[in-house]
Amino acid sequence: MFKKPACPVIAIEEHYWDPELSKHFVGPEAARGSETDERLYDLGSLRLREMDEAGIDVQVLSHGAPSTQKLPVEIAAELTRSVNDRLAGICAANPARFAAFAALPTADPAAAADELERTVRTYGFKGAMVHGMANGEFLDLKKYWPIYERAEKLDVPIYFHPSLPNPTVTEIYYQDYAKDFPLVVRPAWGYTVETATQAIRLVLSGVFEKYPKLKIILGHFGETLPFLVWRIDASLKRPGQKPLSFRDIFCNNFYVTTSGFFSNPALLCCVMEMGVDHILFAVDWPFVMNPPAIEWMRSVPLSDEDKAKILSGNAKRLLRM
Ligand code: ZN
Repeated sequence: MFKKPACPVIAIEEHYWDPELSKHFVGPEAARGSETDERLYDLGSLRLREMDEAGIDVQVLSHGAPSTQKLPVEIAAELTRSVNDRLAGICAANPARFAAFAALPTADPAAAADELERTVRTYGFKGAMVHGMANGEFLDLKKYWPIYERAEKLDVPIYFHPSLPNPTVTEIYYQDYAKDFPLVVRPAWGYTVETATQAIRLVLSGVFEKYPKLKIILGHFGETLPFLVWRIDASLKRPGQKPLSFRDIFCNNFYVTTSGFFSNPALLCCVMEMGVDHILFAVDWPFVMNPPAIEWMRSVPLSDEDKAKILSGNAKRLLRM
């Protein structure tokens, strides 16, 4: 018989697809298995049953990749508003079980900042999630800083989620093996490189000097960065470079989640570098199923108090739930 954890469980990287937005996905972005599709579009009985079976109390919902990051500027702001309005309706119908991260129309950075504020103030959204490059650009470029200014002002985090690598990167780095191992482009490695690069660029950009209270969430235990923080920090402190403490910024301004990565060695590395207060529970449903995540959390070699922080205490604090 499955035993629910004693504390509340909040999972914060749990995806769905909006029927209108997903019509804009093309090529490999649109291709999913039928079972995954069924779950992505389900915001009722199937989703809730699988949450109940695993003992997950709340899902913080976010759109799946690439979400609104590849929309053309002419339609981005208006379409994103309707996507978020529908998501707010889903949360309002079941506020005990669902909360949300907004989608942002990054093609229009000023509109994206306004949409963040609108969804946080009007609907109580917990922040926003962005997915990979925005129409081929990394999101640390200065033109996107209005989003971070607003996030800091509202005191909500921005979640940087992977998306498919840039097609040129895929061609040069992965094409030789993509036929036999299609997931090497995705969670096996491509997503990780893409998202870790985005996070490092964000630190190098100076945005945290301008907005020192900006909070960033990375999934998948920080996309390898907690393991690498010592080496990145030490290398960037060698002579000939601008003064910067990568470690201070990464360990203070970033939070990581357990999404799709149920490993004790990886967890302990994050605890040692970042502290348990910066680690939040997530599954990455429906790309990963709920029960293995909960079963793994029961086995992690931490105190019950620390497990409770990861399972929901940290989310309550960071997302004010
Ligand atoms: Zn995900």
